[in-house]
Amino acid sequence: MVRILFLAAILLAAGPASAQRLSGNVVPEHYTLWFAPDLEKETFRGRESIEVVLTEPTSAITLHAAEIAFGEVTITAGGRTQTARVTTDTARETATFTVPQPIAEGRATIQVAYTGLLNDKLRGFYISKANGRKYAVTQMEATDARRAFPSFDEPAYKATFDISLMVDAGDTALSNGRQLSDTPGPEPGKHTLNFARTPKMSTYLAAMIVGDFVCREGASDGIPIRVCSTPDKLGLTAFALDAAQQQLAFYNNYFGIRYAFGKLDIIAVPDFSAGAMENAGAITFRERLLLVDPANSSVNVRKRVASIVSHEIAHQWFGNLVTMKWWDDIWLNEGFATWMANKPVAVWKPEWRVELDDADDTQGALGLDALRSTRPIRMTVETPAQINEVFDGIAYQKTAAVLRMIEAYVGPEAFQKGVASYLKRFSYANAAGEDFWTEVATVTGKPVDRILRSFVDQAGAPVLSVRNSCTNGTGELDVHMERFIGIPGATAPFPTWTLPACFRTAGGQPRCEVVDRPRQTVRADTCQPTVANADSRGYYFSEYTPESVRALATSGNLAPVERLGLLGGEWWMVRAGRHDIDVYLDAATAFARDETTAVLESLAGRLAVVGQDLVSTADRPKFQSWIRTHFGPQLTALGLPGDASDNDERQSRRATLLALVGITGNDAGVQKRARELAEAYLKNSSSLSGTLAPTVLGVAAAGGDRALYDQFVAQLGTLSAQPELYYRLLGALSQFGDPALVKRTLEFALSPAVRTQDTATLIANLMVRPRSQDVAWEFTGSNWPTILKQLGEFQGIPAIVESLGAFCSAGRAQEIRAFFEKNPIPSSERAVRQAVERIENCVALAERQGKPLAAWMAKQSAVGSQQ
Ligand SMILES: [Zn+2]
Repeated sequence: MVRILFLAAILLAAGPASAQRLSGNVVPEHYTLWFAPDLEKETFRGRESIEVVLTEPTSAITLHAAEIAFGEVTITAGGRTQTARVTTDTARETATFTVPQPIAEGRATIQVAYTGLLNDKLRGFYISKANGRKYAVTQMEATDARRAFPSFDEPAYKATFDISLMVDAGDTALSNGRQLSDTPGPEPGKHTLNFARTPKMSTYLAAMIVGDFVCREGASDGIPIRVCSTPDKLGLTAFALDAAQQQLAFYNNYFGIRYAFGKLDIIAVPDFSAGAMENAGAITFRERLLLVDPANSSVNVRKRVASIVSHEIAHQWFGNLVTMKWWDDIWLNEGFATWMANKPVAVWKPEWRVELDDADDTQGALGLDALRSTRPIRMTVETPAQINEVFDGIAYQKTAAVLRMIEAYVGPEAFQKGVASYLKRFSYANAAGEDFWTEVATVTGKPVDRILRSFVDQAGAPVLSVRNSCTNGTGELDVHMERFIGIPGATAPFPTWTLPACFRTAGGQPRCEVVDRPRQTVRADTCQPTVANADSRGYYFSEYTPESVRALATSGNLAPVERLGLLGGEWWMVRAGRHDIDVYLDAATAFARDETTAVLESLAGRLAVVGQDLVSTADRPKFQSWIRTHFGPQLTALGLPGDASDNDERQSRRATLLALVGITGNDAGVQKRARELAEAYLKNSSSLSGTLAPTVLGVAAAGGDRALYDQFVAQLGTLSAQPELYYRLLGALSQFGDPALVKRTLEFALSPAVRTQDTATLIANLMVRPRSQDVAWEFTGSNWPTILKQLGEFQGIPAIVESLGAFCSAGRAQEIRAFFEKNPIPSSERAVRQAVERIENCVALAERQGKPLAAWMAKQSAVGSQQ
């Protein structure tokens, strides 16, 4: 699954329920499922037959079921059919079928007639609405297949599935298997579609999609691929089809195992709680994450679509072919799909330089691991709330970063062999973390088992503090390892990792060593400062001396990915109070003319925090002027809007500088220009490049008035068939800072004009910006019951909770903690703790760096006045 990333939160979460693992004495082998959705009444009829094996005699069979109304249930075994009595347990989401005479050990068939709800909570089998009509679609992961059909709804219970649906005559249906037949009836005005039997798979991968969907057809390596949407959006499906065709062939070749599910459909669904879902052979997506306007798309949207399609296709091997035994090992699914996703993309579009995006993701995961309230990659989970809470940045980005580190250490070819060998061994079955690392250690002959165990079972991330010393021209590195906590003065218990670290002197070749002691000495080739994380492939923080940071920053010898790593790491040394902020700001000055967009983006994000949270009110104009002086000339040279034929990299750089100079630098001239360009864009959306347009709209909105706001809202209503243009404008709406307009945006977020799937993102966007966050928090607090009810109790709440971490005041931290003590959310308990910790860390940061920042500002003014 791909979540809608908001910092590191998920949008999909389940209701409260207690532990409910099934006993294991009944094992399903095959499901025959029939569904008849009634879109009008928002219900469905279901008939199922489950072939099971009993490992011991019993007269009662318990399986999962939620919001199911049972009709007749029978169990047939040994030539005898008995009618079962049904009892349900709502809290445990189970049903028990009891028969008068015990059933012997061995085979039995359970037959169930039932009805269910097509709910409006985007889980299980649910209703989606668009174009004045209704659709019925599914989202089963993690624990909602039980809402569509009574089932042994745990990942280890793999079975084969025959699925058929009876739907309205004018509609079609898609499911996991290839369509075998389509016959009229049997009921009037209906037709019935039968789908091919699936390979063995877990219940959470079942899918049914019903409506007037249309598809663009292609193929890859002889496997049919279709990208499907509602009829009005078929024109936006070509890009995803191109990507999927390249990716499927890439994976067939990389894994040496042919795609297992016969055909591949990829379907854009109008309402969808997660970002995308890897259902076997029938991947579902939010529209905005799959559909691309060929004439007017931004490079970020194209990259995101390619990368998420790739993530979901990678899951067809990691997750669907080989599945984790239980949800505690969800990292085996999500971390691997995240790690794989950019591999085919790097081959397909080398100019996108996705290795920089990977390095940026590593930085994001390290930021989460700098919190005391982080968690280990693998931890015990039992209830649906606990299961859904572990779909987080640790399972996805941290695991992916750790895998990149190990891949770099053992070598890409050896790692590929290990991965393929693991997948072959556990095909159509389940595996645990140990199975993976044992296999890769055996195949590569390297201590991958020790490395992974130390990173999977232990929370947090190491920091390597390195000091160069030099005797008679021979260099040495003194390396010190401990757990990193991103707050001044914090200490942690003293775990050690088995850490493959790669060092490189500027211009030299990397040399990798396993660091596994708190103190270690490493030989260096020269006396020059050494890069402690060559190519930024390692999952750890690097602490240099301030002199080394300055020397590395000005050396001109760092690869772009290492410049990104140096800046990211140094920022954390500032946050942890290990260095004064002037070290970071001097490095930022050295990189101010960097031509790599990713490096500038990294700077822009951190400088925005300095401007918002750290600089004193008295110094803010000086800081803004410093931004304009150092970054304005680059923007002027690129031009605004500049040359329409500029490549993606130049357009992205222009957009990054526009936001930095226009908003953080508060440049009145740039803001005025953005407003002019935004007004022209509202009249003609092709007047700006798709890559530049979102930032132009955002900068115009940041200084915008009610008249501009009204124009944005009016145009939003006309864009339902163009997701990218719609979300571009919706995103800009949350940039308006006038309190009355912020209030209007919040009310708009809860109105029927905004889809439930988008409500939380809109609120969260307002919560992270200082100019709107107070109004957003007050509104959220006083409308909490409405928000909870509207989002379906927990849908989207984690994103809102996470956004609260953007405040920077001790009072707010207390208020937020108290609020959630009064209004507890079981699936966001850790997210609340992390948000509060982030706020407290920001307060400590402002306190620790206030004086050094003021001193650095004074020095800048002195330098400025001399010029
Ligand atoms: Zn996923």
